[in-house]
Amino acid sequence: MIHHTCFKCGRRMELDPIIVGLELKQLKVKKPKYYQAHCPACKAVNKVSVSQMQNDMDAVREEIESGLVEVQKAKAKMKAAKKKAK
Ligand SMILES: [Zn+2]
Repeated sequence: MIHHTCFKCGRRMELDPIIVGLELKQLKVKKPKYYQAHCPACKAVNKVSVSQMQNDMDAVREEIESGLVEVQKAKAKMKAAKKKAK
């Protein structure tokens, strides 16, 4: 888990490197520098630097890749369902 402290309210939050990696991969940006984490307490957007989390994400690289395949499958399904509805 990646630990981050909210800059606004000081609450500590845990970020799942798999979730973070998945979200970063889905961004339009090729090499995002920051991950935007929403504080569960005050909803402030915290910019967490990607380089700071890189080791954690490298450790779960395979999970991120397989998760991405699942996300893409789900998206394709949704697209297909939308087409049918039209
Ligand atoms: Zn906060």
